[in-house]
This record gives sequence, C-alpha cells and structure tokens, in this order.
Amino acid sequence: VSSRLAIWLLLAAVVACGNPQHAAVPAPAHDPLVPELDAIRRLATSAPRAFDVVRSLTDEVGARSAGSPGDKLAVAWARRAMPASGLRDVRTEPVMVKHWVRGEESAAVVSPFAHKLSVAALGGSVGARGLEAQVVMFDDLDALTKADTAGVAGKIVFLDTPMHRSRDGSEYGRVVPNRMRGAAVAAKLGAVGLLIRSVGSDHNRLPHTGMMREAPIPAAALSVPDAELLHRLVARGAPVRVTMTLGAHMEGTSESANVIGEVRGRELPSDIVLLGAHLDSWDLGTGAIDDGAGCAIALEAARLVAELPPPRRTLRVVLFANEEHGLDGGKAYAKAHAGEASHHVAALEADTGAGLVYRIRALGGPGTAAILASLVSHAALGIAADGKPAWGGADISPLRELGVPLVDVSQDTSDYFDFHHTANDTLDKIDPTSLEQAAVYFASVAYELATTPEEMGPIPPAERRSD
Ligand SMILES: [Zn+2]
Repeated sequence: VSSRLAIWLLLAAVVACGNPQHAAVPAPAHDPLVPELDAIRRLATSAPRAFDVVRSLTDEVGARSAGSPGDKLAVAWARRAMPASGLRDVRTEPVMVKHWVRGEESAAVVSPFAHKLSVAALGGSVGARGLEAQVVMFDDLDALTKADTAGVAGKIVFLDTPMHRSRDGSEYGRVVPNRMRGAAVAAKLGAVGLLIRSVGSDHNRLPHTGMMREAPIPAAALSVPDAELLHRLVARGAPVRVTMTLGAHMEGTSESANVIGEVRGRELPSDIVLLGAHLDSWDLGTGAIDDGAGCAIALEAARLVAELPPPRRTLRVVLFANEEHGLDGGKAYAKAHAGEASHHVAALEADTGAGLVYRIRALGGPGTAAILASLVSHAALGIAADGKPAWGGADISPLRELGVPLVDVSQDTSDYFDFHHTANDTLDKIDPTSLEQAAVYFASVAYELATTPEEMGPIPPAERRSD
C-alpha cells in the first residue's frame, strides 16, 4: 500500500508543477502550509490506516440500515473509533429514524415462459403476497408520466432505463428518478406494482435497492440481466405475466444518532470545518463502499490532521444517521446547529466510495475563487478544478440551505455503481491505496480550510437550493 501511495502522491505533485494553470495561480499572501501538508502525505504513506477503519466497520458491524440492530452497533462502533482516530469531545446527538424491514422476497415470470427473477424491494416499499399481473413496459419515467390510465391500470409497470458508467456519477442522477418516483407515478395511473431495471452499471445478477418516495403499491428492482430478459419477453408482443412476493414492511420509528468528534482549533475553536460521511448503509451488503469508505476517509483524515500542529479553526467530523432512507441525520444536524451555521466556514462530505480523487469544486461567497486557487496550489495539489460550483453531498445539503460554504473533493465513481446498494457492496471492492489517497486529499483540504486566514463566505441566497 505505502509504496503505491507514495507514487500516486509524488505523481500528483509532479503533474501540478508541470501544469501551466498551476503556474498562473498567484502566490498566496499567507503561509502556504507546505510543512504540514507534506507531513500529512508522509504520515499516510508510512502508516496508512484508512483501510483498517473500513475493515473494522464492515467486519465487526456489517449491514446497518436505519433502525436495525446493526444501526445501533454502528453508533457504538463510531463512539469507539473516533477517539482512536484522534478526535476529542466525542458525543452523539439523537436522531429518530424510520425502521423499514425487507423480509423474504421473490418474483418470477409466470407466462409465456417460466423464469425466476432476481429482485430486491425498494426501500420503503409496501409488501406483496403472490401479486400476479401483466407487465407493461416503459423506457423511462417521462414515458410513464405521459401514459394513459387505460394502458396501465391493473398492471405491473416495468421501467427499463439502462445506466452507463460515469466518472462523475451523472448517470446515476439521470436514472435514479425511476427508483424515487416510479411507484408514485405508476400508482396514480392505477398500476398494482412496479419493477425497475436496477439503477446500476453492472451485469451481475444482483439487484440494486435504494430509497423510493412513499407509494401505495409494492416496488422492486430487477438485476440487470433479469431486466434484459423481461425486456426481450415483453418485446415479443404477447402478454407477459409476472408474480411477486415482498415481505417488506415498516416497523415504526427507532432512535439512532449522529456521532460527532472534533480536532479543536487553536485560535478560533468555535469556527468549524465540517467533514461528513454517513454511518448507515442498506441491508443487502456490508456497506463497504457506501458509506464505510466515506467513514474511513473522514476518520483517517481526522487522524492525519490530529497528528499535526492544531489548525486555527476546529475540524468537526460528523458521521450521520440514516442518509439512505430519508436523510434524517443531515436534517437533524442542520436543525440542531442552525444557530452556529454562520460559524461553519466550510462543509465537505465523503460519500462516493473509495475511488481516486480527481477534481475539486467549491461553492460559497466572494472569497471562494481565492480559496480554491490556494487549495489547488497546496492541499489539492495535482487535482483539477473545473470552476463549476460544488454540490456538497446529501447529508450536508440541509446546511447548503443555511448558506454554509461547500467544497467537493470528487472521487472517481466509474465502478462505484456496479456495487452500490447491492449484496456485492463488500470490503473486497475497496482498493486500499485509492482509499488512502482520498483520505490524504480530504485531510489536506480540510486542514488548509481550517487554517487559512481567508474565508469563502456564505453561499449567496439565490444559490442555496440544491436539486
Ligand atoms: Zn451513501
């Protein structure tokens, strides 16, 4: 791990020095933190710890969907892991979460040819017991929205939109409305159930679950090969009938928690750089890439920062409760901390797996361009800034609405959506070297944001809403 990591980081520095854009960046007026940032790289190279953190979370806790026993174990795990990563003042803030349970599930094509189908209920779906109906297929949610009740009523809607790979995750954004809103739209047209082609870029025979908006009909994802089979059968023209049984049901609400720890700032301790990830996962895998990797990046970044001279401001790590099924932790944090929103000088989130960092973006007030230029010449050495505004992350999106400035340290998601929300989201999918590289960049960027005399300033009101 360490020699490959050293090569990556050296390469990044060489690329940055040979980059004409880099040469055009004006020299910063303040101490560029070179010794501290070098120390972060050296510490990470000589004794990388990020992989060990995600191994511990996935092996010792595993699946941890909101409200489940694993969720409670994960909170206890985080309370132990934070001090071990150098974080102090570790505490929990309670978050009430929905407790949805999958139960047993199965589906099959009944006619014209019998086939078992590999399915997973979408998070929040109601159950079904031997529901059987004819399938009506649509290319995407738009096509379904324009459909007549006559063609849909009494049928199982099948939404079949292929998803491709994308480094920036944009394909997920394009296809995920099928999962979020498909059942609600289909129910309005009188459908009795929904099947979607998994929102995933793989061809494994494993379905991808994920949250859906509340709807009165059962909804499930088909693995990509099963969706392609169903597509071929429906395309023959003769009626295709499918049956499904979903044990999915809601078990009420349960208490979980956001887990918070800090590296206290030496000059402005009440000013905060927030580094977040989410502690919960879906139930099918062990939540290694989503978001064990992000938890490991945040904790490893904290460990690296905690070994340096303290930053001027406080680095606050938040491991959020229930991102997956309603963003309860992110909403609760923003509500509980609205009074200190103006003291949050920046927020970052690690929630796109364990891929290599390749890009940095920022969104804030008048100081943003200068801070970004400074980050690109020091902490974000060797990674590209394309000038577009940061998105932030799901858990910190409620902070965006309060004007908290955001920085994206973007990771390559080319293979993330092969495994995302499936039983295949397990530790072996993580490359320890790229995970550590991501932790180094998050640590370096967070350290510089917490130490530079400048501030981005709040996001202008017109740009506070994300979509
Ligand atoms: Zn996630």
